[in-house]
Amino acid sequence: MLGCIFCKIVQKQIPAKIVYEDDKVLAFEDAEPKAPVHILIVSKEHIPTVNDLNESHNEILGALFAAAKKIAAENKIAAKGYRLVMNTNAEAGQSVYHIHLHILGGRQMMWPPG
Ligand code: 5GP
Ligand code: ZN
Repeated sequence: MLGCIFCKIVQKQIPAKIVYEDDKVLAFEDAEPKAPVHILIVSKEHIPTVNDLNESHNEILGALFAAAKKIAAENKIAAKGYRLVMNTNAEAGQSVYHIHLHILGGRQMMWPPG
């Protein structure tokens, strides 16, 4: 989608530190990491929020979690633990309206989140 920063990263129009790619998703390091490991997995299709999902997106959702599992293992945080976050809309703090799964790890996470 025109003007979407994550679509531009998917299309390789702007650079990112890409760590994983398949036909449905792309993963790259967050520009402002909030943990030693902070990677974003984005759908290649532009989907603004979780509220826009329907059954046609089920394979993409599976691919997001399958990528998260692989990336956690590669970063050696799978056994210790990591957090997957998908913020939806303003009150949750979503700032980029193209769905993305945050993988956060490498330090003790707090609960409840802020
Ligand atoms: P949200 O707040 O929507 O859940 O998460 C958006 C995330 O995208 C933030 O953690 C922010 O640091 C990251 N981000 C925003 N713009 C860019 C960018 O151009 N490149 C990268 N690598 N990360 C970005
Ligand atoms: Zn987009």
